[in-house]
Amino acid sequence: MIRAHKVRLNPTPEQEAYFRRASGTARFVYNWGLAEWKRHKAAHPGEKHGVMAVKKDFNALKGEQFPWVYAVAKDVAEGAFQNLGKALENYYASNNGKRQGAKMGFPHFKSKKNKRQSFRLNNDKIQVEGHNFRVPKLGWVNMAEELRFDGKIMGAVVSQTAERWHVSISVEVEPPTPMEFPKEFVGGDIGIKELLVLSDGKRYENQAPLRHELKHLKFLNRQLSRRKVGSERWYKAKRQLEVIHGRIVNRRADHIHKMTTDVARTYRIIGMEDLFPKGMIRNRHLALSLSDAAFGEIKRQMLYKKEWFGGQVVLVDRFFPSSRRCSVCGHVNAEIKLDEREWTCANCGTHHLRDDNAACNIEQEIKRILGFTPVVATSGIKARGRGVRPRCAAVPVEARISKRSLLST
Ligand SMILES: [Zn+2]
Repeated sequence: MIRAHKVRLNPTPEQEAYFRRASGTARFVYNWGLAEWKRHKAAHPGEKHGVMAVKKDFNALKGEQFPWVYAVAKDVAEGAFQNLGKALENYYASNNGKRQGAKMGFPHFKSKKNKRQSFRLNNDKIQVEGHNFRVPKLGWVNMAEELRFDGKIMGAVVSQTAERWHVSISVEVEPPTPMEFPKEFVGGDIGIKELLVLSDGKRYENQAPLRHELKHLKFLNRQLSRRKVGSERWYKAKRQLEVIHGRIVNRRADHIHKMTTDVARTYRIIGMEDLFPKGMIRNRHLALSLSDAAFGEIKRQMLYKKEWFGGQVVLVDRFFPSSRRCSVCGHVNAEIKLDEREWTCANCGTHHLRDDNAACNIEQEIKRILGFTPVVATSGIKARGRGVRPRCAAVPVEARISKRSLLST
């Protein structure tokens, strides 16, 4: 199993200059390779000339035409070709239906103006010792913390976001020994009001970092637009904006990471709705709140963390009426609106908190999917026997009746 640890770097100004040069080299090589690949494909249609062949052409030319690539590690160009190969492969796999997810576009040329610049290093050149990380042709760079994992280093990507440099180191680790989970099942309702509400009543707030900084961002954007483009003061305002954006990203990531780790370690089987954030963001009234909530990221993290810790994520179809169904009697309330936080079931009279009810529905649904429905009834009856009304006591009526008749015989 491969796990990656992303660590902040504390480079000296000279090291930063090297990073910039290496990122520039990676970008140049990627773009050169893409242009060359396209040129060859147009000039000799049908002829096979893959990224490996383009790389060979590059290596033959570089001494004469691009001698400056020797200023940085050899892996930088190598890594750029690797990325290009992967991008083209993903594009074709996606268009042949061999790759899941939304259709991917053809690889773009990389822009110098892109905020995220990066370069890749290969495994056999990387050394890590305590707080230090060794880059070929540069030397040791200080890391803000030690590498979290033990094992064979598979590769590293050095990247810059908003003035800060990070290294993400991939390590081949032993699969973890299966852990004991304190709780078996949970349904989770992901939302805007609260980021996550679980069927046992646990809730995680939505800290909405973007919404919090909105005023500040507006102010800085106005300042930037009033300054002369390219002036010292313009750059200063631009840097300030980048810092705020970086802070928002970090806060969001930190909160979501803590939440998903917590949930993934507590419950063996987690039910979630298979939401489609890209489609939802098109609703512009919700767009801001949704990017703060980062639904797609929650799902992604939950899936890979369950792979680490064991257990399972069960995704419930996004057309399952989790918010509209009464978790006690199964009645579907078609009238419920998006802003109704509470409602009363017209059929059985139960008063529901919208998100809690949805979480309970999701829990019931995954139990149904996994074929656990009778177990719900048993636990419901047990809990009632102790005089505690279980949170998700709701079971299909037929199941409850059959259990009761079973007990009475
Ligand atoms: Zn009801």
